[in-house]
Amino acid sequence: MPSILLIEDEAAIADAVGYALETEGFECRWCQLGREGLDALAGGGYALVILDVGLPDISGFEVCKTIRRSSEVPIIFLTARAEEVDRVVGLEIGGDDYVSKPFSPRELVARVKVILRRVAPREPAGSGDSAFDIDVAKAQIRYHGQLLELTQYEYLILKLLLQQPQRVFSRAQIMDRVWQAPETSLERVVDTHIKSLRAKLRAVNNDMEPIKTHRGLGYSIRLAPS
Ligand code: CA
Repeated sequence: MPSILLIEDEAAIADAVGYALETEGFECRWCQLGREGLDALAGGGYALVILDVGLPDISGFEVCKTIRRSSEVPIIFLTARAEEVDRVVGLEIGGDDYVSKPFSPRELVARVKVILRRVAPREPAGSGDSAFDIDVAKAQIRYHGQLLELTQYEYLILKLLLQQPQRVFSRAQIMDRVWQAPETSLERVVDTHIKSLRAKLRAVNNDMEPIKTHRGLGYSIRLAPS
């Protein structure tokens, strides 16, 4: 039974969400404060976090940033105003999804299910009928059977994208996961590496563009059939 952490200061909303989650077979732990939520999360065992943006102690954005320093647990934001939506969508805060208040708890639970399905362990990329074939031990990736000559960063970016096909990674998320000292690099550096990666993939197969750009969000990869 997956356990969901709900960080929301309004009791009425928390009640409705908790009830909807439990009806669908989830366990739900409710925290009213951001700090309380961070403490609960540090204890481990949560499959997903539902996080209100407007909390009385620290903002949901700050809570999310703190979580992202040590955890990739999926986060769904609850937003109350249009400008919050803009920040969640436009800035690279590291949330996975959002719902705007007022929302239907059933809709929220449906999104929880979608995200948990998306992050569930899947077939490693390169198996089956994918055009990509990763050899992690050798730090090599083959594309349509051809060994790609990649720099260290290109290899790490491509490996990251292939680990969760279809998932959109923001530039900030790519930096966090690939660079050892992300704060010293510029996010544009990711774009540069993506560009040269694309050129190398195109040199193997000119008809496909497996790396997709999501404007304002980041990059994802499609597992093209071989
Ligand atoms: Ca609130």
